[in-house]
Amino acid sequence: MAKKKLSARAARRASDRDAEKLTRDLERLALLEPGHTPGRAIVLDAASQVEVAARAIPCPRCRGLFRVEDHTAETLDGVRLRVAKVVCSACGAGRLLYFRLGAAALN
Ligand SMILES: [Zn+2]
Repeated sequence: MAKKKLSARAARRASDRDAEKLTRDLERLALLEPGHTPGRAIVLDAASQVEVAARAIPCPRCRGLFRVEDHTAETLDGVRLRVAKVVCSACGAGRLLYFRLGAAALN
C-alpha cells in the first residue's frame, strides 16, 4: 500500500516534469504558427477583424479560447501591425498575437 502510494507520487512528479517540458515545447512550436510572431503576422482586411481572428487561434498550451484584452497599432521593421494582447480563457496564459492590415491598403 505504502509502496503503491510512493510510486504514484513519483509518477505524478514525473508527469509534472513531462507537463513542464510539454508546455515549453508547445511554446516553441507556437512561435512557428501564424500570428504568434511579427514575422508571421496574419493578414486581415480591417482592424475590426482582429478580435474575431484572435479568437480563432487556439491557445498553444491548452487549445482554449483567447480573450482579447486590448489591441494596438504598432510599426515593427517598417510594417504596420496590430498587436493583440490576449489571455487564454481556459488556462489564463497571456500572449501577444500579431496581425497585418490588408493587402488592400498597399494598393
Ligand atoms: Zn490556454
